[in-house]
Amino acid sequence: MAYDTRNVFAKILRGDATAHVVYEDDHSVAFMDIMPQVEGHTLVVPRAAAEDLFDIQPDSLAHLIRATQYVARGVKKAFDAHGVMIAQLSGAAAGQTVFHLHFHILPRNHGIEFKLHAREPADAALLAAHAARVRAALT
Ligand code: 5GP
Repeated sequence: MAYDTRNVFAKILRGDATAHVVYEDDHSVAFMDIMPQVEGHTLVVPRAAAEDLFDIQPDSLAHLIRATQYVARGVKKAFDAHGVMIAQLSGAAAGQTVFHLHFHILPRNHGIEFKLHAREPADAALLAAHAARVRAALT
């Protein structure tokens, strides 16, 4: 399947859709997931047009995983998490729903289960507050 520029992450990257951005550099952008599975659920996307893990140059992927590690540190600190789960779904059969490559960062705590994938939109004010917490943790 060819990369479809109408996907929502491409719109966010173009500025045609809004997001609660927590980090950006020349290669990557990170923002809050609009339907978080846990508080602090953050996504990291490459600026490069790549549909999934197999559609990106290794050098660009290296930039993306570096940014993911950097942002994950901030998310862990901001949410005082015991651990962090990194997830990446490539292909509809794997559960991918937005066809622009991304890593999920999910802060995890003992005894707190995560919600179903991409189901329940969070309150925008809450997402804004969570984004501010991550940005503060990264500074
Ligand atoms: P995937 O299923 O492709 O691995 O993950 C896509 C993620 O994007 C889901 O966790 C879903 O909640 C999130 N998502 C879907 N639409 C939007 C949106 O418009 N904005 C943001 N920030 N996240 C979105």
